[in-house]
Amino acid sequence: MGAIVLKSLEEIELIRESALIVSKTLGILASEIKPGITSLKLDKIAEAHIRDYGAEPGFLGLYDFPNTLCVSPNSHVVHGIPNNTPLEEGDIISIDCGALKNGFYGDHAYTFAVGNIDSKVEKLLRITKASLYEGIRTFKEGNRIGDLGYKIQSFCEKEGYGVVRELVGHGLGTIMHEGPEVPNYGRRGTGKKFLNGMVLAIEPMINQGTHRINQLKDGWTILTADGKISAHYEHNVALVDGKPELLSSFKYIYASQGITSDEEEGLRKNPLVL
Ligand code: MG
Ligand code: MG
Repeated sequence: MGAIVLKSLEEIELIRESALIVSKTLGILASEIKPGITSLKLDKIAEAHIRDYGAEPGFLGLYDFPNTLCVSPNSHVVHGIPNNTPLEEGDIISIDCGALKNGFYGDHAYTFAVGNIDSKVEKLLRITKASLYEGIRTFKEGNRIGDLGYKIQSFCEKEGYGVVRELVGHGLGTIMHEGPEVPNYGRRGTGKKFLNGMVLAIEPMINQGTHRINQLKDGWTILTADGKISAHYEHNVALVDGKPELLSSFKYIYASQGITSDEEEGLRKNPLVL
């Protein structure tokens, strides 16, 4: 992980531009995700749209990753490689996407339901996403990295879920993975202080069962050790005037799905124009 780099307001706007390219791409994928489609097809759609927006796929070639999207269905946690297996009714699939424009990265993720899903699965998605926003709201002046991790961990563990330890959020800028590391677990009042100009990728990876994970022989795919399902949501957030400023948005996804949500309320100075 690289050093911590504080950003100017101008640089934060460039990261916002890249982050929103990812947001729009996830919005397009939201309307394509249904039983029968393959993750490789989703990957091609995402790559074409990212290039249409004048950006480059942020993950393609990064550490030699072979694709535009990381796709992680069901018991897969993160870093899955797109393939030709059709999605099935009742599956979930985490899609993580990056874009690079003007030298700055956007990087965020959403776990989608494929058709109708079981209520226990729906609950894992709902709690994991809610934990992301709980974490984002601790990213403010006076708090530390450990406060954010504690919030996400306690929020998810009280539901009996496992919080992945080996993979963490990170700083974001001209490098995809800058400092600081942003664990989804921690102790209150510990770790680095939050500073204006920090830009973080906050990304809880939450398992229905054990927090323990394994890696497939492909050298990429991370999956739960007990085979139970896992969810992953990620936003890009800057600290501006002591408060969290959301740079990415799930509203493009919700627009595709025909739903509204107030979950991003109060996290943006200027309203988002879809
Ligand atoms: Mg990501
Ligand atoms: Mg990330």
